[in-house]
Amino acid sequence: MAAEKPNVVFVLGAPGAGKGTQCSNIVEKFKYVHLSAGDLLRAERNEPKSEFGDLIATHIKEGKIVPVAITCSLLERAMNDSMKAGQGNNFVIDGFPRNQDNLDGWNCQMGDKTNLKFVLFFDCPEEICIDRCISRGAAGSGRTDDNKESLKKRFETYVTSTKPIIDHYAEKNLVKKVDGSRSADAVFTDVQALFSS
Ligand code: UDP
Ligand code: MG
Repeated sequence: MAAEKPNVVFVLGAPGAGKGTQCSNIVEKFKYVHLSAGDLLRAERNEPKSEFGDLIATHIKEGKIVPVAITCSLLERAMNDSMKAGQGNNFVIDGFPRNQDNLDGWNCQMGDKTNLKFVLFFDCPEEICIDRCISRGAAGSGRTDDNKESLKKRFETYVTSTKPIIDHYAEKNLVKKVDGSRSADAVFTDVQALFSS
């Protein structure tokens, strides 16, 4: 019997909307593997042997979106590695697809190999998101983009490039929206209901 296609839930929302926090909760409670596109890119950036290190570093700092060929390959490799390691075939993919290039590249490279279950969207006002990212930076996130200048650019990118992707999936009735402005526990109560049903 052919192996089952991996199931994918995309997790989207503005920077600081709570994607990473809630993905950790999901992994703890449900049989899912969490892949953060941003974390995979940061790991690749820190890899001395990578030919993409500098390109990724500047894109992250400027809040720009890395070309999809790079991100998609990192995601595919991480999915294959974790399936080989016997971690199952359910994935929450956090912070991707972020623009039309990401969406087209994913559909082309992974669309037929995966089963997209739904898109989890954390809806959260910009002021709250910015406060959270600034606090995260002050608390020592170590991220090169948790500062006022980078955040301004990340939000521009979110509004102009990522929001239209969420709208695109909403038109296809694939979006499950959660109010991300509340406490992490309150948000997770809603998230849990979506994953249990
Ligand atoms: N990034 C990217 N493509 C992706 C995901 C992330 O280019 O698919 C880059 C982009 O520069 C983004 C940064 O990585 O601003 C940080 O992304 P992350 O998802 O970690 O930030 P978050 O939205 O969780 O705060
Ligand atoms: Mg994140």
